Amino acid sequence: MKKTHKPATIAAHAAGALDPQSGGVVPALQPATTFLRDENYELIRPDNTYSRDNSDNLRQAEAVIQALENADETLLFPSGMAAIAAVFRTLPNGAKVVVQSGIYWGTTAWIRDFCTRRDIALIEVEVDDLQTACAVHQPALVHIETPSNPWLKTVDIQSVKDASTATLLVDATAATPILTRALDHGADIVMHSATKAINGHSDVLAGVLSTPSKETEIWQAIHADRKMAGAILGPFEAWLLTRAMRTLPLRVERMSQNAQALAEYLLAHAKVDDVFYPGLPHHTGHKTAQKQMTGGFGSLLSVLVSGDREEALRVVGRLQLFLRATSLGGVESLVEHRHTIEPHTGIPENLIRVSVGIEDIGDLIADWTKALKE
Ligand SMILES: *Cc1c(COP(=O)(O)O)cnc(C)c1O
Repeated sequence: MKKTHKPATIAAHAAGALDPQSGGVVPALQPATTFLRDENYELIRPDNTYSRDNSDNLRQAEAVIQALENADETLLFPSGMAAIAAVFRTLPNGAKVVVQSGIYWGTTAWIRDFCTRRDIALIEVEVDDLQTACAVHQPALVHIETPSNPWLKTVDIQSVKDASTATLLVDATAATPILTRALDHGADIVMHSATKAINGHSDVLAGVLSTPSKETEIWQAIHADRKMAGAILGPFEAWLLTRAMRTLPLRVERMSQNAQALAEYLLAHAKVDDVFYPGLPHHTGHKTAQKQMTGGFGSLLSVLVSGDREEALRVVGRLQLFLRATSLGGVESLVEHRHTIEPHTGIPENLIRVSVGIEDIGDLIADWTKALKE
């Protein structure tokens, strides 16, 4: 496919994946773990040896994300956490890292534990202090998340990049490669939990890293580690991901429209104290989001309902279309009472995190109208 093709074209054609052997217009699923050599002991396909290294289905899925991200190389991992861990594992003992506060709790928890075990100096800072912290500490690695989960804080990627010589890792899961191409904004590595909107059907666990330059030392180390330590996505998951990504731009467009409409409705509701969503003009990161996101502001928002913990749980319990489950970015809407999940992190007791799906927006708003009624 041409480099000039737009995301909708790249996605619909799965970056050109076909099955030359059968003539099928979709790629075949090839689950082999090992690959043949001929009578002279040459590999039939020099790029296929053993599936802990690579396989066709993996390359097909990676090619789609690579094209969407405008990346030099893309690598898939068995989960978003495995992708983050692959980057952090390249750090030498005693290194220094700056990590944004109030991000995905699973990331924070793992990084804290890892840094303790490896004698890595971990500096956790709020969004507004990222630039200063990077300039003062000159860390080896900086990890940010934009928009952040569940606070929806927006980080100006380029300004953090410019503050130090560190490798900048950006978790852009809530933005998706459709709304933000983080590499174009200065990220050295962009990460996504592909479990979320990239797959979008709540049936594949996967993570992905992309780089604008595969020759860097850190990328080479990540690539080697994936193969040797074996944190690689299986062919069936990769095949499902390729299938799901054909509709990624469509899904993201609809989810963003729905989320914007729901956010505006909820903000105006008498029984709502506040709504965190980058698409709302009163949101502190709105200006940055407008600069960094194109085509919408994503599917994730958080709502502060008027009242206490019991009131928030009562509202969550009365919703019918918004399924009570963790995760985000799927075609079906989900809600979560984050304080129940991470009570120790300062999450307000009346915060409800919402992942807006692709359902009819009238139905979604009606569900909230009913749930917020006396
Ligand atoms: C879900 C999520 C992760 C972790 O991804 P998994 O695929 O669940 O391992 C990391 N960052 C963000 C922002 C997420 O939402």
